[in-house]
Amino acid sequence: MVEAVPEVETDLLIVGAGPAGLYGAYYAGFRGMSVTLVDSLPELGGQVSALYPEKAILDVAGFVNVKGRELVEQLVEQAASAKPKYLLGRTATSLTHDEESISMGLDDGTVVRAKVIIITAGIGKFTPRPLPAGEGWEDRGLVFFVPSFAEYAGRDVVIVGGGDSAFDWAHHLEPIASTITLVHRRDKFRAHQATIDAVLAGSTEVVTKAQVTALNGEYHVESVEITTADGDVLVRPAQSVVAALGFVADLSAMQEWGLEFDKRHIRVDTAMRTNLPRVFAAGDITEYAGKVRLIAVGFGEVATAVNNAAVLVDPDAHVFPGHSSEGS
Ligand SMILES: Cc1cc2nc3c(=O)[nH]c(=O)nc-3n(C[C@H](O)[C@H](O)[C@H](O)COP(=O)(O)OP(=O)(O)OC[C@H]3O[C@@H](n4cnc5c(N)ncnc54)[C@H](O)[C@@H]3O)c2cc1C
Repeated sequence: MVEAVPEVETDLLIVGAGPAGLYGAYYAGFRGMSVTLVDSLPELGGQVSALYPEKAILDVAGFVNVKGRELVEQLVEQAASAKPKYLLGRTATSLTHDEESISMGLDDGTVVRAKVIIITAGIGKFTPRPLPAGEGWEDRGLVFFVPSFAEYAGRDVVIVGGGDSAFDWAHHLEPIASTITLVHRRDKFRAHQATIDAVLAGSTEVVTKAQVTALNGEYHVESVEITTADGDVLVRPAQSVVAALGFVADLSAMQEWGLEFDKRHIRVDTAMRTNLPRVFAAGDITEYAGKVRLIAVGFGEVATAVNNAAVLVDPDAHVFPGHSSEGS
């Protein structure tokens, strides 16, 4: 029996659910379009969630000082009015188009048929750096993200890494987990100092100059082996292991789609159109004279892209959307 290919139909497909993609989803709803977002990460927020959830952002209009995590929460809440369909943990790998629509193939076999596409892929597909000792333990207790904290209640958790995510998760899980052990290969950390101080002052056991060298358990992880630079081997209980070792970015899939690239960026015109029909781009991925790679700029670009895409979805529509308060 031939298995049916899962298909998704949507007016607008957004590739990349970072700040630009999420704001684009809100705007798509405002323009009456159905919208689907795909992202290779299992969590929304792109670079902001993956690299600096606890950092204070000072240069987004309307927010004097907002943590990365909070900005993403606000963007997700704002986008909810569009009822977006999120296809997370999946990578857009192939693009084909005809007169009326475009088909995007995802790495899990799903095909998304869209009237227009906006690529907000940032610096490329983000993949968590693997934990060498963790090979084969995914879905058996090893994770790379902690999107919600409640499921860690009463668990022994080992967190590997010394950056913002590692410390942020240790800080948030400490009140609810049974034990937290944070393992870092160096004795210097690259995280927000206030979060480091809070974790060091709490009950988290911080083991530095050490690496997780084995995960043990019948089927699900039950304990980890930690080897220090001095060669000592420590064993700690763990029902969950969180590898917060950073991410690698990869653009290779997109470079086969026929888009005009300028080094690692996609060339766009003033309407954010790429060289391919019905395909727009916005945010860090775009290139034009004078380009500045900031969240604020991505918001403006994606609003331009969605409004110009709207007239392709509905030829009677206007590029200018009216004001969001009108009619309310
Ligand atoms: C440490 C750090 C601090 C920063 N601080 C600030 C700051 O204070 N203020 C500011 O304005 N900017 C800051 N920036 C820059 C800011 O984070 C970026 O400008 C912003 O994230 C770009 O948003 P984006 O939506 O264009 O792309 P991204 O945030 O990069 O999101 C793109 C998403 O697309 C996904 N993706 C890519 N390719 C595919 C594919 N083929 N299939 C599926 N998914 C795909 C990726 O996994 C990613 O999740 C900072 C950046 C860093 C690294």
